Amino acid sequence: MTASGGSFELPRTMRALQLSAPAPAAEAPLRLVELPVPEPAAGQALLRVLACGVCRTDLHILEGELPPHRSPVVPGHQIVGEVVALGAGADLVAPGGDPGAPPLTVGDRVGVPWLHQTDGTCRFCRRGDENLCEHGLFTGWDVDGGFAEYTVAPAGFVYRLPAGMTAMAAAPLLCAGIIGYRCLRLTGVVGEGAGLPSAAGPAAPAGGAAAPAAAVATADRPRRLGIYGFGSAASLCTQVAIWRGWEVYGIARDEKHRAMARELGAVWAGESGDDPGVHYDAAIVFAPAGELAVDALRRLDKGGIVALGGIYSSSIPPIEYPWIYGERVVRSVANSTRQDARELLRDAALVPVVSLVREYRLEQANEALLDLKEDRVRGSAVLRVAAD
Ligand SMILES: [Zn+2]
Ligand SMILES: [Zn+2]
Repeated sequence: MTASGGSFELPRTMRALQLSAPAPAAEAPLRLVELPVPEPAAGQALLRVLACGVCRTDLHILEGELPPHRSPVVPGHQIVGEVVALGAGADLVAPGGDPGAPPLTVGDRVGVPWLHQTDGTCRFCRRGDENLCEHGLFTGWDVDGGFAEYTVAPAGFVYRLPAGMTAMAAAPLLCAGIIGYRCLRLTGVVGEGAGLPSAAGPAAPAGGAAAPAAAVATADRPRRLGIYGFGSAASLCTQVAIWRGWEVYGIARDEKHRAMARELGAVWAGESGDDPGVHYDAAIVFAPAGELAVDALRRLDKGGIVALGGIYSSSIPPIEYPWIYGERVVRSVANSTRQDARELLRDAALVPVVSLVREYRLEQANEALLDLKEDRVRGSAVLRVAAD
């Protein structure tokens, strides 16, 4: 193990929030415990955690909608940390699987997302779909995550942060941002063939997101994206979609979230069931409510795609054939690839994406999760674990 040098001595123990048994968020199931600081194994980096985002998936783990994969477990999979030590060989690995990226060194600031590690050898990995890996490990579910003062992660699955990005602003990008970005890719808003962002370059007004860019037109009108559920992921990917020249329509049950959609540049915001007066070319459903998939499908133009961005959802009601006829597609989005993570971080710096953050202390993780469950978080909940 390459240690961090003389100026900084690693403590033996750390504070962490641990889940032993799933329970409703109102019962505050995470317990503050003292754990040994983990040792980085071969190929791993030991990180001093600066910030960790709180995601709806953490809530599903907390409350048992996702069955425990490890118990007890330290949740948290939107980690920003500083490299304080490297396990054997970790300094030979390309961070984030990017062959052009220089190896990690002590002092680097990196992000750790949901996709913790893959086997690299299964049929999905070999064809470039590592998000579907047969033996994928997930941060804060299969291995301990970032609701702690220290954590370890494989050097090949961490990402250097864009220069100048604070830990608090970067944390929500590491799941909400990346999954949102994959949804944008699978609906054709970003990625190959999606067209280039406006040459004019949108301005970012203070306190808000990018102003609408020149529209990417299809034959005669800008392309339209409906986004259902206006939490952290929606707030981030709205900014990328607008930068790409799409019109965004925001659908949320709560007026403060609809107001946020408008502030971020959505041309329309309403509730599920409201008529936006247009058909969408694509829609993304982030809220875990199956009926929204049907609402999105019924407002979709021919040839359009609905992407379901959640890891968990209630059942989807029956779909009438005319709603899906016209080559409309409904698909889920599962996890993400390292390419998604790299490209999201690149684009987030270019836009630049503004993270609307509600800050909590590490020991307030139960409170943050309950606020998330009860729709009280505007933007992204982030635990500040150490000074940036
Ligand atoms: Zn695999
Ligand atoms: Zn997440």
